[in-house]
Amino acid sequence: MVRAGTEPVYVGVGSNQANRNENIALALLMLEADSRIRVKVCSQAYLTEPVSEIPQPTFVNAVVELETSCEPASLLGKLKEIETLLGRTAGRRWGPRAIDLDILFFGKRIVREPELRVPHPRLEERHFVLYPLTEIAPAFIHPVSGLTVTELKRRLPRIGCPPRCVRWGRVPRWSTVSSATP
Ligand code: AMP
Repeated sequence: MVRAGTEPVYVGVGSNQANRNENIALALLMLEADSRIRVKVCSQAYLTEPVSEIPQPTFVNAVVELETSCEPASLLGKLKEIETLLGRTAGRRWGPRAIDLDILFFGKRIVREPELRVPHPRLEERHFVLYPLTEIAPAFIHPVSGLTVTELKRRLPRIGCPPRCVRWGRVPRWSTVSSATP
C-alpha cells in the first residue's frame, strides 16, 4: 500500500508509435494497477518534435507525479515491465517507441547506479520533460543543481536549437488533478 505523504516522484512518459495518447493512458492505468503506486497528478499531453538523427513521428509526452512505497530500483523494474507489455522492443536507443518511461526525480534522492541515475541525467536538456514538469511542479528543486524546475525551463533555449513542444490537451481519462480520492 502507498503511505500518504511519501516524497513526490516524477516520471516522464512518451510515445511516438500507434495510438500515442492511448499508449500513455494505458501505461498510467498499469501503474495505478500496482498497489504500491498511486498516480497523483498528470500534466497535459505535449506534442514534441523528436530529438534524434533517426527520422520518426512526433512524440506525445507528459509527466506524472507518483506516490509510491517502491524503492527507486523496484520502480524502474515496474516501468520496464510496462514498457515491455506495451510492446516496446529493444531497438535503436533513439528510435521510435510505443512507450518510454523515465524516472525524472525521486524526491530529493540521488541515485548513481549503472542501471539507474536519478535525477535523470538529461532532463535539463529536454523540452519534452521541462514543459510538462513546469506545469505540475514549477517550484520543485533539483537536488543537485539547486535550481527550480521553472529556472531549468528558462535555461532551455540557451542549449542548441529548441525543438517545437506545444501543449496538446488532456491525456485520455486523466485529469490534470489527482485521479484518486485521498
Ligand atoms: P532509454 O532508452 O533512454 O529509455 O534508456 C533506458 C535505460 O536507461 C534503461 O536500461 C535504464 O536502466 C536506464 N536508466 C538510467 N537512469 C534511468 C532513469 N532515471 N529512468 C529510466 N531509465 C533509466
